[in-house]
Amino acid sequence: MESTRETVSMDEVTALAKRRGFIFQSSEIYGGIGGFYDYGPLGAILKRNVKNAWWRDTVELRDDVVGFDSSIIMHPLTWKASGHIDQFHDRMIDCKVCKHRFRADHLKSLEQCPDCGSKNSFTEPRNFNLMMKTFVGPMEDTASEAFLRPETAQGIFVNFKNIYQTARKRPPFGIAQIGKSFRNEITPGNFTFRVREFEQAELEYFVPDDGNDLEVFKDWVERRKQWYANYGVKPDKLRFYELTPEERPHYAKAGIDVEYLFPWGWGELESIAHRGTYDLDAHMQLSGKDLQFFDEGSKKKYTPILVESSAGMDRTTLTFLIDAYEKERSTDPNGKETERVVLHFHPHIAPVQVAVFSLARNKPELVQQARAIEEKLRPNYRTQYDEGNIGQLYRRQDEIGTPFCLTVDYDTLQDRAVTVRDRDSMRQDRIAIDALAGFLREKIG
Ligand code: ATP
Repeated sequence: MESTRETVSMDEVTALAKRRGFIFQSSEIYGGIGGFYDYGPLGAILKRNVKNAWWRDTVELRDDVVGFDSSIIMHPLTWKASGHIDQFHDRMIDCKVCKHRFRADHLKSLEQCPDCGSKNSFTEPRNFNLMMKTFVGPMEDTASEAFLRPETAQGIFVNFKNIYQTARKRPPFGIAQIGKSFRNEITPGNFTFRVREFEQAELEYFVPDDGNDLEVFKDWVERRKQWYANYGVKPDKLRFYELTPEERPHYAKAGIDVEYLFPWGWGELESIAHRGTYDLDAHMQLSGKDLQFFDEGSKKKYTPILVESSAGMDRTTLTFLIDAYEKERSTDPNGKETERVVLHFHPHIAPVQVAVFSLARNKPELVQQARAIEEKLRPNYRTQYDEGNIGQLYRRQDEIGTPFCLTVDYDTLQDRAVTVRDRDSMRQDRIAIDALAGFLREKIG
């Protein structure tokens, strides 16, 4: 059997995401709302698995990182100190003819509108603050104005002292958080790549000023490289772009953008940044509170240097979806063309890890046996039971990226074995029911 693999288009990914219940447009029955998406049953598990994979590697497997969970709405002065009120702007530009609005830095030329083709039809660029506003309490006035956080990191900075004191940590140590952030993007787009409500996984790693900060930065870059590799992201589609001094903020000694080659081009997944003492300094200055670290040994106070890794979980989930997607065309020995869409998810990321089928719907002995196997595996794996036409069942499981399908057939009642089909190689093996647990432990963990 000959087979070829094709690269994926965004239309195919969005169609599959909808068809199989990964991602839906938010409030679809009302026509949707720009920049917001909902995760369907499989998408919710997929995104949770991505977040768990990040949390496991960043927090649970380290003794120098603690977890954290701060509120979405914070004191408005937080955003004054962080610079978001004064500087978190995009330059916005409108076409006077077609009224289309653009982000000035996304336009190739300022002469001609890419939408309607009009020449010199643009307004002057204006600043547009990306923070979403709301009101806290019953009065809708400026005194009650607040913002939905545009990043999770500030919750960590303002709690720095609470955390290091209660967790009994001293630099070098990190604080990690996963949570929702909101940005009123001028032009959301590319599916869940640029949205107005998204989740970030942020690690703030605080280090003493002992000359090792750049080493720590490089360490985190390596760790993050390894993380993407562990989950099988294709290495030729991933790059670690090193920011030039002109592209970095003045206080930063180094910065890397992790980028993936999406169907529309390279896009940022994560930023890893050396941030100096900028963030803690800014909060100390505005709040008047001491956020320095007091070293019991040397009896000295200092402001730790910060290394930050900030990854978008929606972008990472989308990346895993796109990266896993493959359309394989094959010709069988009789010359018949077949096509299969398959998601090659890493088994830890796959929403369903093991599907168990009964070959026939109307044979209670088979159904009972298959259901019993599925129930037995359920506490250890994400499983699904199904029955009917095996070809169709394989097709569905391939499209949702299930690594293993087990089929109970008539022989099972005699030989106490099932057919195990491997998603990637499509190889089928007969494995004894009693040996399944060991087999899956070896393959999935
Ligand atoms: P971009 O240049 O794409 O607007 P950014 O440089 O402003 O992104 P950061 O502020 O560095 O992004 O945020 C860290 C991460 O948060 C990004 O790498 C991305 O994964 C995620 N992120 C930021 N904005 C969005 C968004 N509008 N939608 C989805 N994810 C986002």
